[in-house]
Amino acid sequence: MGTVLPRFLREFLSYMLLHTFPNRLLPLALMLLTSLATGACQDVSDWLVGRGATPLATAAPTPQVQQPVAPHVSAAIKEGRLYLKEALNGASLLYEPWVDYPTVQQVKDTFMATQQVQSQELGVAELPPIDLFVTWESPFNLFAGQNQFQHPSWLAGFAVYGLAEGRALDARVYINAQAKGLVHNTAHELTHIAAPALPQWLGEGVAEYVAVRVDLLIGTDETDARTLQARLKVRQAAEQGRLLMPQELDAFPWDSPPDYTTLDLAYAEGWQMVEYVAAAYGSQVLSQLVAGYAKAPDESLATFETVLSRPAQEVWQAFMQHVLANVSPAEQVGDALCRLTSQEAAEADLTRDWNQFLERSNRQNPVQDTQEFLRFGQRWAQLSVDVADTVAPGDAGPIKETLFASVQTMQRAMELLAQGSAAAANSSLSAANQGRLLAHAQLQRAIRERSAWLTCAAPLPP
Ligand SMILES: [Zn+2]
Repeated sequence: MGTVLPRFLREFLSYMLLHTFPNRLLPLALMLLTSLATGACQDVSDWLVGRGATPLATAAPTPQVQQPVAPHVSAAIKEGRLYLKEALNGASLLYEPWVDYPTVQQVKDTFMATQQVQSQELGVAELPPIDLFVTWESPFNLFAGQNQFQHPSWLAGFAVYGLAEGRALDARVYINAQAKGLVHNTAHELTHIAAPALPQWLGEGVAEYVAVRVDLLIGTDETDARTLQARLKVRQAAEQGRLLMPQELDAFPWDSPPDYTTLDLAYAEGWQMVEYVAAAYGSQVLSQLVAGYAKAPDESLATFETVLSRPAQEVWQAFMQHVLANVSPAEQVGDALCRLTSQEAAEADLTRDWNQFLERSNRQNPVQDTQEFLRFGQRWAQLSVDVADTVAPGDAGPIKETLFASVQTMQRAMELLAQGSAAAANSSLSAANQGRLLAHAQLQRAIRERSAWLTCAAPLPP
């Protein structure tokens, strides 16, 4: 008998929880409860395909299209709650009766695909027995709270298990059927059970690594956005010096994170680190890490360093350089759009200053006004240099040109005012204003088209 370690809780936060399923299946639930009370609950297939409890004879029965129902569905009561239960290749799938058929089927497909990816990528051929619960959000949040998660509403799934000889024991996985990313969330939690002994930062990274590959296999359409989003978060953190260092990730308080943004970064960073390690050292290194930690469960970086034959700090430095240097063409366009956004904001500040000046300007003192016109001209000239220096590939190119023309026209208007050419200056001001509005509209459209992944980093506080 090996050592049995305390149970582990592994969570997964949902990036965007969406509540898409209306509360419309309650009558079906009540029907099932009635049949349970009368002892008719051993096989619920009849109920599932929609036949009434007391079929009426008709002269010519109308053929009905019925949803396929697995013959091995049974009812089960766990902790006083009712579920439908199906055996699933070593696991028990337990779902609330009102979870709809496509959702249940998607979880089943995900289970099979996840095993395939875990076998290929992690060298884990077989999962230990698992109770896989699929519930609506309200009971899910209740279970998360009961399992000491401090922010149940941040979660889309979680796993609970003990650890014996490097394998998960009494494993339970809970999935919120109403959260966005059902396939991803399910694959993620099942991977915690497949690789239960990893330190949590590495476990989260490996779970994301597998989940995104299961997404691809099943064909969900969110893989690219999810990947771009995580890469951007990590790169922005690297650029701003906010990347969590190895010891910080290792000691990260997953159960009581300081805030959502840092938790989000910890997931993204763990995942991108695993992507980097698999790409740089070969994918077999993930199997070695899973096997190494299973042999000697340890929440430290020791096994990580042994398997990679390098100090964690050195791996991190290389990872950081890789993150900063490895920017795809789509990401370069996103970076340029963010730079143009901050330049546009600087231009809006300058315009506000200009309008305030106009309100208080001393028209009795033209010399003083002329000096102000020249000062504003210098500020717009500096801004036009900043815009001109921005590398703007792809869609960002025309937006940069529009913004640049507007800023230069403002600079020209200030020169004309200083020369006393009021009519020509007014004409320039009007043209600059039109250019400013056009640049704003173009920029908003380009950012909106990338809203699934592009979020410009807020500047660090001074
Ligand atoms: Zn997780």
